[in-house]
Amino acid sequence: MKVIRSRRVLPVIACLALLSAGAACRGRGRENAPAQAATSSDQRPLSFAQVRFGGEFGTRLAAATAHVLTWTDLYTLTSFVATTSGVPGGLWYDWPGDQLGRWLSLVHVAQGYGWSLQAWPPRVLADTLLPYQTADGNFGPTGSGAVMDVRMLSGNAFALRGLMDAYEDTHDPRFLEAARRLGRYFEKIAPAWETKRDGRLHEFYGHCLDGLVALFEQSGDRWALAAAETIAVHAGRTPHTHHSLSLCRGLVDLASATGKREYLAKAEDYLAWCRENRSVTGGLPEAMPVSEQDEGCGLADWIVVNLMMARATGEDRYIEDAELTLVNHFFMNQFHTGGFGHLSFAQDIVGGKMWQGWDGRFGSENPGCCSLWGAWALGQAGRFAVTENDDTVFINLYADAVVTLPDKSARLEISGDFPRMSKARIHVTTYPERRTFTLALRIPAWVEAAEVMCDRELVTAPETGQRVLIRRAWKGDTEVEIAFRSRVRVIPWPPDRPAGAGIFDGPLCLGLPADAADLNLPWSVLVDRSGRPLLDASGRPLVSGPSGLAQSLLEPVSARWLQPDVKDPIRRRVLFLTRRLE
Ligand SMILES: [Zn+2]
Repeated sequence: MKVIRSRRVLPVIACLALLSAGAACRGRGRENAPAQAATSSDQRPLSFAQVRFGGEFGTRLAAATAHVLTWTDLYTLTSFVATTSGVPGGLWYDWPGDQLGRWLSLVHVAQGYGWSLQAWPPRVLADTLLPYQTADGNFGPTGSGAVMDVRMLSGNAFALRGLMDAYEDTHDPRFLEAARRLGRYFEKIAPAWETKRDGRLHEFYGHCLDGLVALFEQSGDRWALAAAETIAVHAGRTPHTHHSLSLCRGLVDLASATGKREYLAKAEDYLAWCRENRSVTGGLPEAMPVSEQDEGCGLADWIVVNLMMARATGEDRYIEDAELTLVNHFFMNQFHTGGFGHLSFAQDIVGGKMWQGWDGRFGSENPGCCSLWGAWALGQAGRFAVTENDDTVFINLYADAVVTLPDKSARLEISGDFPRMSKARIHVTTYPERRTFTLALRIPAWVEAAEVMCDRELVTAPETGQRVLIRRAWKGDTEVEIAFRSRVRVIPWPPDRPAGAGIFDGPLCLGLPADAADLNLPWSVLVDRSGRPLLDASGRPLVSGPSGLAQSLLEPVSARWLQPDVKDPIRRRVLFLTRRLE
């Protein structure tokens, strides 16, 4: 039931290992803690340049980024002109500004991670595309500023964010000027849209929030912040998952810019609604509360919003939710191309063929939006794998990475078997002098017991869902090793009204693939008298169909992502009956 526990508020830090300078990493028990109530709401995410990923996460990030940035015979300059001016000639051309904005935001991430960029650098896009901005300030056909079309709003909202990302990168005043005119367009049309969705802020319009806040933060334009605050008041539960979660990013940014926590409460309310309707794999329907398919974009923003909320509130439960989706449903949604798209979605069976646009040319991948946003989200999520404040380094996700922390004269090398995470090793190097700071290790809620060694000495064994703090004067090279112990377990799902049981191995949700069995038959996981799954000699859980034959057919739902099945993606059963063998 660890996944269910992760849905509750857990104390961020309840276990403290206080160490004298230069002493071994020996911690005291929970009964002695916490002497130091370390809150993590003042955490800073890393800059992209501070982290370089390897392993599974690095592979997926590289595949996603390269896929988009090298697909220059799809994302041609002609397609940018079409999709910016709102005429046929590119994917989703009827969402003007969308491709431009997402591209600039993805370039912001990719270049931050050190990617070179041949096509299309922001300068070229500014030269070619900014002249298409209309007299009303929006992108789209001439005179379209007053058109009541939600696609116009959403595309332009992505454009606003992208322009500000490009301005941050280039300091080219043309991006700022274009963003100001676009921001004024959104400010002007606010009365038409701020309560348009049954009295609530229309999410296709409202996700201009993050761009408005960025405009204020980078230029000091107070009118942009005032406009954002005016519309944010009306944010609520709106159906389009992706646009609503993009709106939530703006709410978190707004809370940060104003110090007003009521915006976080609005974001939390939307996340709560999503939690009620997600699958055991951490997937979300494309439209809330029910949809026959998922959307890569929605999953992408779900992960990013949760990581932003974790940073803003200091509550690790948001990381639990982000991690569940990241290593399961989001990884499953990524195709061998590196791109993302749409898979069929239900509580019991996920992953099959559903909507395939453009006459199926790209299969289930959606390079018009999801492939761009999936790559963007992997890059954004990476910034939150490790966060820091002046005194503490927070290890949040255990993806393989090398992290540099100039403020602490430190370098961390994180390695392990992510995404399974049975173990992790953090090699800490400080140079040139001794530096004192706290390493705050997240112990995920799915872990039954964790063993932490520092410099080959045992640190306090923490309770599930709690952080281990190792405070010491770090000098030279230090090895921190963590063993995350967990058994294969059964998770009733949905938690409040179980329709079946999901099966997890550590953080990984296991599924029954359609090429191994007929998913439409009733399948049961075999459990012992205490309800624990029965395992074969290799430790794999056993399932049985109508024949009653026990078989080892399950695999992680994110397995085989490099299988080229984008035209007909494999379905996977993820909810099972339980059958007790005496
Ligand atoms: Zn999409």
